[in-house]
Amino acid sequence: MAKVKAKTKSKPKSPKVLCCNEPPLLTPTQRLKAYKLASEINAANMPNGVHTIQRAAILASSYWGSKGVDLTVGFMESIPQNLRDRILSHMNSWNTIGGANVKFRWTQTSPQLRISRGRGGYWSYLGVDLLAVPSNQQTMNLEAFTMNTPESEFVRVVRHETGHSLGMPHEHMRSDLIALLDREKTIKYFMRTQEWSRDEVIAQVLTPLSESSLLGATPADALSIMCYQIPGECTKNGKPLIGGIDIDDFDKQCVQKLYPLTVSPPSPPPPPPVSGAWNYTVTVDKATGKPTIAQSL
Ligand SMILES: [Zn+2]
Repeated sequence: MAKVKAKTKSKPKSPKVLCCNEPPLLTPTQRLKAYKLASEINAANMPNGVHTIQRAAILASSYWGSKGVDLTVGFMESIPQNLRDRILSHMNSWNTIGGANVKFRWTQTSPQLRISRGRGGYWSYLGVDLLAVPSNQQTMNLEAFTMNTPESEFVRVVRHETGHSLGMPHEHMRSDLIALLDREKTIKYFMRTQEWSRDEVIAQVLTPLSESSLLGATPADALSIMCYQIPGECTKNGKPLIGGIDIDDFDKQCVQKLYPLTVSPPSPPPPPPVSGAWNYTVTVDKATGKPTIAQSL
């Protein structure tokens, strides 16, 4: 879930931070469908308590299961092939760079993961939740992405949003990182720069994830691609949370553990030697008188 406020000319100095807002909330019926899908995919997904949408680690109730992720992808609007391929390439970086068993394949027919480049900033539903979204709605938003968008933004934003689609919540919601923040300074900062309400800031930045709701959690990682960049003016010690700009080693550890690549079965052992006595045949070359010994079973 990730959504960056649309950049407007009235806010030219907004810090270039990646902030995700909530995607549209699932209705109770859709939420129930998401729960059922999650529990069908993996019994370990059964939700406990109320699931909130924004929860680096993977949220148990959004986990796709150990068999990995293989999703078809489509676009809500027409899109040039080169841009489509570029977005897909960055989505698949969780495999090519992250080393996880995940695959995103473009299709024109009933795509499971749908991307819009329309208004609304950047966001994505979490993990299996996206299967509960009506097919006429996007599950991920990448506002205004074009071939002119800098490569660094493809790396930072597309990979981040895809992380959400894999079930990864925001890393800065880990309690160890929230503990570094000055609450009131943080609220003022995000209200000013993102135009969020106080409650939105509390929900998006200051409400810690329950560690028990996470799978594959590595130590809280301020360099995770799933971690916001939070400036020093928000922290107690004045040092910024640097935030992630690409998939880092802890991100890789997490997805490799939860979506492991299929391991080839070991080669079968060589057949045992055939028992039996060896036969030896000796022949003598009549011309040279040199003997030759042949061995057989
Ligand atoms: Zn996000």
